Amino acid sequence: MRLTLVSLFIGLFILTSCKNSASSINTETAIKEKPTGYQGQQPSPIVPTVNKPVQKQWKGIWSFDSDSTFFTNDFDGARLNGVAADGNDHYTVWITAENTPINVSPWYAFKVWTENPRDITIKLSYQDSRSRYYPKISTDGIHFKSLDSTNFKAINPGEGEFGIKAVPELAELTLSIGKNPIWVSAQELYTSKRVKSWIDSLSTKPFISNYEIGKTTEKRPMHLMEINDSSLTKKALMIISRQHPPEVTGFIAMKSFIETISSDTEQAKNFREKHTVFVVPLMNPDGADNGHWRHNMGGIDLNRDWQNFNQPETKSVRDFLNKKSTDGYEFVFGADFHSTWDDIYYPLDTTVTGEKGKIVFDWIDSISDRLPQKKSNVKASDKLDPTMVSRTYFFVKHQMPAIVFELGDNTPRPFLKEKGKVAAEELMRLLLETE
Ligand SMILES: [Zn+2]
Repeated sequence: MRLTLVSLFIGLFILTSCKNSASSINTETAIKEKPTGYQGQQPSPIVPTVNKPVQKQWKGIWSFDSDSTFFTNDFDGARLNGVAADGNDHYTVWITAENTPINVSPWYAFKVWTENPRDITIKLSYQDSRSRYYPKISTDGIHFKSLDSTNFKAINPGEGEFGIKAVPELAELTLSIGKNPIWVSAQELYTSKRVKSWIDSLSTKPFISNYEIGKTTEKRPMHLMEINDSSLTKKALMIISRQHPPEVTGFIAMKSFIETISSDTEQAKNFREKHTVFVVPLMNPDGADNGHWRHNMGGIDLNRDWQNFNQPETKSVRDFLNKKSTDGYEFVFGADFHSTWDDIYYPLDTTVTGEKGKIVFDWIDSISDRLPQKKSNVKASDKLDPTMVSRTYFFVKHQMPAIVFELGDNTPRPFLKEKGKVAAEELMRLLLETE
């Protein structure tokens, strides 16, 4: 016993001194190798996912200056919870969340117009949050561009590079308004209707069909696309996106990913002969149309519900996957597209997935090789219990190598599309090679 204790002490001493000397020798290298880029979020705490009350936003038109200047949130995807005229063509708008506590993802979208064309200034203020999303402007609600930086003023700018503390407390924007409404929105507006029209346009291809796999609390359909050139294949992929409504950049990359798999290239045709791709492009249509910051109409973060399945959206995908497994499908890959402070990958560590999970890392490496202009960090998780998030559930229940694919809020849109395309091409190549 004593001997063991002594050797333990000696062991500890050696370990400590090694550590010390190593750190003193390597200080210079350590500084040089300081991690760069977004390092990712901490593991998510376990939270209950039974329904919580949601405050529906009041919808209507705010009118000012003797009924000559108007603001409205009366459209799908809008969020505007209050407006005040402060005089001198200055307005303050308030943006609040559907319920709390909530992740800081302060979505906003509203329209503004006037009978007296002029420049006005709008201050964006938020409930327990800061100004995360840089304003996008549109004159038709379809085509958006970033507000010109000369018309943007950050109030009480943040500190650091990433996260809510790094963005301004408030933002002030100057707009030239006239009789035609201008849309002001946190990101491009992809409502359930717009997503469905994309699904329908792609479904004109003979090898793509779409159908409902369930309904949300507000009875919106959960649409699923099935991409498949052959009825013989039983190898399948499961792709989902937008559990969190404001995460439009993830959606844009997913869209390009799916369009590439559905394209006319030899690779895509060959791939579709051997694989079926199932896609739920909009996991949270209630949240998207109600302009939610993050939750569904049950007031719940859907990506915490893949353990207990209290919500209709997660239940419908769970039941769909179970049905397909029973039908004999083998799931060879799964991806869940999201957005955050910068591009990052959240795979499962091969210490828990073994040989099966290696393809995810090969895939990340080959995407990175082809897109050296923007480095993305990789933060692997080695926790399989509780499943809680989609990626972990996909692996634990259906043995699919899976990933949370995150794109930055401000990643340039052409790059999002390129990354979605490259990701699809590299995945098709790897999956075809593993046959
Ligand atoms: Zn997300």
